[in-house]
This record gives sequence, structure tokens and C-alpha cells, in this order.
Amino acid sequence: MPAVLRVALPVPLPSLFDYLPPATGQAVPGSRVLVPFGRGKAVGVVVDVAADSAIGKSRLKPAIQALDDAPLLDAELMRSLAWAADYWLGAPGEAYANALPLALREPRPLPDTRDETWALTVSGQSALDAGSRRGGSRDLLQALVAMPLAATELSERLPGWRTAARRLAPAGLIERVAARSVATTVTTAPALNDEQQAAVAAVASMLGQFQPFLLDGVTGSGKTEVYLALIAQALAQGRQALLLVPEIGLAPQTVRRLRERLGVPVEVLHSNLSEGDRARAWLRARNGEARVILGTRSAVFTPLPQAGILIVDEEHDGAYKQQDGFRYHARDLAVVRARALGVPVLLGSGTPSLESLANVVAGRYRGLHLRARPGAVRPPQVQIVDMRAQRLEHGLSPTLLSAVADTVARGEQVLVFKNRRGYAPVLLCYQCSWHADCPRCERPMTLHVGRRQLICHHCDRRAPVPTVCPSCGATELKPQGQGTERLEEALTTQFPTVPVLRIDRETTRRRDTFEQLLDGLRNDAPAILVGTQMLAKGHDLPNLTLVAIVGVDEGLLSVDFRAGERLAQTVVQVAGRAGRAAKPGRVLLQTHHPDHPLLRQLLAQGYAAAAQELLAERRLALLPPFSHQALLRAEAHQRGHVDAFLHAANAALPAGHPLQVAGPMPAPMPLRAGRHRGQLLLEGDSRSALHEVLRAWQSTLFALPAARRVRWSLDVDPVDL
Ligand code: ADP
Ligand code: ZN
Ligand code: ZN
Repeated sequence: MPAVLRVALPVPLPSLFDYLPPATGQAVPGSRVLVPFGRGKAVGVVVDVAADSAIGKSRLKPAIQALDDAPLLDAELMRSLAWAADYWLGAPGEAYANALPLALREPRPLPDTRDETWALTVSGQSALDAGSRRGGSRDLLQALVAMPLAATELSERLPGWRTAARRLAPAGLIERVAARSVATTVTTAPALNDEQQAAVAAVASMLGQFQPFLLDGVTGSGKTEVYLALIAQALAQGRQALLLVPEIGLAPQTVRRLRERLGVPVEVLHSNLSEGDRARAWLRARNGEARVILGTRSAVFTPLPQAGILIVDEEHDGAYKQQDGFRYHARDLAVVRARALGVPVLLGSGTPSLESLANVVAGRYRGLHLRARPGAVRPPQVQIVDMRAQRLEHGLSPTLLSAVADTVARGEQVLVFKNRRGYAPVLLCYQCSWHADCPRCERPMTLHVGRRQLICHHCDRRAPVPTVCPSCGATELKPQGQGTERLEEALTTQFPTVPVLRIDRETTRRRDTFEQLLDGLRNDAPAILVGTQMLAKGHDLPNLTLVAIVGVDEGLLSVDFRAGERLAQTVVQVAGRAGRAAKPGRVLLQTHHPDHPLLRQLLAQGYAAAAQELLAERRLALLPPFSHQALLRAEAHQRGHVDAFLHAANAALPAGHPLQVAGPMPAPMPLRAGRHRGQLLLEGDSRSALHEVLRAWQSTLFALPAARRVRWSLDVDPVDL
């Protein structure tokens, strides 16, 4: 009697789909099957094999084909995914779709993962010398001049190289050669200081068991050296290591360090890889060929058949939370996987999240600290600049400008931080106070002078810059406030002989530009960097001695209960860029609120004390992590549809449930990209109480007639409300 396959299909529905087994081949849990779906076919993952189906076996269709001989997803990954789908209320199919690279969701044989190395031929060298190839082809020839390169390395350096290879290989200009032996010279580790040794010993003593650790140490305190030592120990035991970083910008330098130090294959997984490369990297991890896997958020789904340790760097970073579709948190999922794998998980940060700090206090995580900075002479001194008393020049105070002047006069570098792109956040008419708003979001559009456009940072709508006021015809349209573009202009005018470099999403569209721009600064020449959050992380700039933080007041006044935590993290991270080498650093913080208690405490006592204070406030107010939230979001072109859905959803909550409910209410941005938005916030004292309600509620939401007229989503542990 044939069993029933319970299959996860990539559709946003909270159910599995039942099929009869295919005529030939085995379909076991964790393997892929091709099934008839709707009028077409779909690739799904077998989650379970059951004896019977609620629908009745006679009504089931057989699967068309089993795609794998053996499970593609092992038992641990299947269990962790089931946990994740249940916890973040994802559709099972969406959870599996996140776990499997796109290329493996096609009904095709698995790609070849054998080592692939390419070399320049003699004709290739002549073609390069003659300059007969341009663009991507030329780049690829150039990349192979020094030595043959593995496909993985080419993918990291030249994202489009395969297109070029398809032209050059048939022409005989490049060829596939036998794999180059791992020739990278292995560098030796520095002697670890006492705190580093203690941290390594604590984690190493738990290799082979589940235990979460929180490693608290500012940037430059030597956390990465601790990671490297632990990864080396895991490798020595024949195990694999997974290291997560919040963004790819941080990956290239880290991967270089891993390769040079460890001398084993390191695989990089992030969303900018081509789909083929992603699938190959994922499969190499699954085969055990990849010993160390470095990746961003989605790399938390990498199969780790021989896992030894999981590490999450910059664990406080919001980028670990996926904000659409399947709204998982990669840090939290890493902890869950470590438990399933029976290995330690190390979370590292200079500014740990309040959630992780609370877990240390509760005894669930073990706290480890690095206080000393091996490289630096002393921590930077932070000084508050009271903007109220000063005449500002494009938002820059005289105190700040003279500090910049002194620094560049000494031949040193300055970082001016402002977390806003563009020239000015508002374009205002001085006659009638009209301002340029996005009609689709009802929020001011940002003026971008270089592009001669007004751009809405919420929906990306673009409009030409008016020369006269559309409302009263006056010509006095003035930019209000400052973005990085305006600061760049003001600083260029003030310091005409010093190079001013702007680093934000606009100036670093290409993947490698960010690194190249910063590489150019690793020398001793004076320079001024103007930039956003992007500059807060990574990249040691030894000659950077002054950090000027221009305006963080938005964070002091926000209604979001996480704003204080984020502000403290940003200030500490940005300040940490000053004085990393032998030279002492200085930090200026410009504000209209010099007496704000959070700022005062942060500067007087540091992040740890400020974080404990913020935690105490959260405890009093019963906010996360002392309560547990889920947010129902809805949006539609008509406000009435949003309201109707949220009211119906509210009414559908089970009678007598123990949760606090806030709303229905408009979202913090009630209109975005032309859609009205609203929300309903649920809060419970315990996770289990919250989840018990959510599970039942979620399926009733799908059945609500009003749900068909809105886009809605449920977000568990939302990070921005
Ligand atoms: P983090 O990851 O906390 O930012 P890193 O591990 O990158 O810190 O260390 C910062 C710098 O100090 C790096 O250049 C690193 O090589 C160096 N470093 C770290 N630990 C030591 C040590 N014990 N002895 C000498 N140099 C060290
Ligand atoms: Zn006007
Ligand atoms: Zn807009």
C-alpha cells in the first residue's frame, strides 16, 4: 500500500500538500520531488511520509518524479526548518525556499561541484597584450594574468565572469586546468592576550556540546582572532565552521584572513553570487568539501553535516532579521541550529543587543569579555558639542570645523558621520512654506543635487527639482537640513586642498568600490571621509584620528522603543573608528540635546552601563525582551480595506486570550508607495502564550473574506514597528 508524501511547495500558504509517491524512484524526507501543481508543475521538498491523507488517498495525484536519490536536506536541517517555520509563522514552503538556493529549486540535476580552475592561454596573453578584448572579457583575461584562479575566487572578484568565459573559452583564450594546489601561504596567529585566551578556552571546552556564548568586545579588541582560533580547533577535530557577518561589505577582508590563516577551502555565500555559484557553494558545504563557510543572513541555512561551531559576528545588527516573506532572524536561528547540531554558538559584538544581554543575565548564554585593545594605545575620548550655542555652517559647528582643520593639518584623517544620503532631506519654500512631498508616501522627498532630482527614500519615486515654488511661484526654494552630499560640498569648500571622499550607497553602487575607496586611505595622507552607517564597520584605517558625529538627534526623539539602543550602538560603533592604530583618537558628538540622559550615560560610563539602564527601562515597561510581540501588518490601496481586515482580525482573536492588543492603528508610515498601511500589535508575557494564540489565529486570518483585499503579514519578534 503506497504511503502519502507530505510536500512543502514554494507558495505562501501555511500547509503542506499531499501526493502519492512517483511511479519510479524513492522520495524520502529531505529530498526533492517534481509534482503536478495547479495547471503546471512545481518542485517541492518531501517533509514527511505519512500513512494516510486527510483528503483521502483516492483523491491524491502521484508525484511526477523523484529528483534526488538521497535527501538533499539532512535530518537536522529539516528539523531546524520545521522549527523556524513554526516559530516565525512562515509558510513551510517559504522556509524551504529560503533554505535551498534558487538553482536547486529547479527540476535539474545537481550542478558539478568539482574544483574548477581557469588559466590564461598563450593566445589569451597575446589578445590581452594586443588590447583586442574589452569590457568583461578584458577583465577576466587580466584577472588570470598572474596565476590560474579557482571558479569560486573568480566569482568573488568578477561577478559576471562566466559570461566572459563562455566567449573566451571557445576562442581558445582561456582554458580549464587541473586544480591548483592550495598555495596560499598560511600566516601564523598572533599570541593571544589573556582575555582572548580565556574566551577561546571557555568556548573550546564546550566543543561537541550545545552552549551559546556572547563575546562582548569593541571593534579592534580582537574578536576575530578569537573566532579564528576556535575555527582552527574545530577544523583540527575534523569539523566544519559557519561564520555569519551582517553584510557582504565585511566579507572580503574576513575571507582573506580566514584563507591566509587556516589554509583550508573557505566558501563564501551571499545574495550577490550568481545562482549557479550559490548552489555550488551550498552543495560543497553539504558534501563536506567546504570546511569553513562565511556568509550573510541566508547562509544560516547552509547544511553542516560535520558542524563544529557556529559564529555570528556583529550579532546586534538588524540585517540578520529578514524583513519580507519568511521573517526569520538569522542570529536566533543560528542558536536553534547549534542546539540541534549539539555544538557551541558564539555571538560577538562590541555593542550587544539587549536581547542577548538579557540572555546572559538569565543564564542562558555565557558572557565573555575582551576589554583591552591589542593595537591601540588608549580608547578614544568623546566630547559633546552643544549645537544650540553655535552658529552652524551647513550643519557644521565652528568647534567641529576647527577640530577637522587641526587634524588634517597634522596630516591625519577625519570621518564625518551623518546617517542620511542626499543633499538635504527637505526642499522648502521660504515664502509660503510649501515643501516637496512624495504624493505616494506623504513624506518629504530628499534633494539630490548631483543627480538633479528629488528622490523619495521610502518608495524611490523620482521627480525633477522645481525652480519655482509650485504653490506660490516664488523662487526662494531652500534646502533644509543636511545629508552626506551637502556635507561633502561644505567640507570641500572649507578645505579645498584636502581630498573629501563621500561613502554612501550612492557613491558605492558597484560592489568593489567601497573597498577600493577605503584601500586608497590606508596610507598617511590627510583626507576627510563623509559617510553613512556603511562607514561604521570594518576596515582598519590607521591614520583616522577624528570622528565627527553630525546629528544623532533623530534617535533621541524617536517613538520606537528600540531607538535608544540603536543610537547607543551607532555612536559606539562609529566612535570606534577613531584611533585604531598607534595614534590616539578623538570623537566629537554634535547635538541639540547635550543633557540627554542616554547620551550622558553612554559617554560617562560606556555602552555596557547604558545597555543595562535601557534593559532596566524595558523591564519596567514590560517591553521585549521582557515580553514577546507579534505584529500583524496590512496594506491596500484603500484605507477602508486595511481597517476592515484589521478589525476582522482583531475580532477573530480567540475569546479570553491572555495577550495585550494594541490597535488596529495606522503604521508609523500610514502611506507608502501609494498604499495605506495599518497594524495590530500583540504582546504576551511568555513566548508560549503568544505562540499558542498565533498558531490558531493565523489559519483563521487566511479564511477571512477581508484578507483577500489586502496584503498582510505576521511578524514574530518584529524589529521595526
Ligand atoms: P575585532 O574583530 O574585535 O574588530 P580583530 O580580531 O580584527 O578585532 O583585531 C584587531 C587588530 O588587532 C587586528 O589587526 C588583529 O590582527 C590585531 N590583534 C588581535 N589580537 C591580537 C593579539 N593578541 N596580538 C596582536 N595583535 C592582535
Ligand atoms: Zn511657495
Ligand atoms: Zn514615496
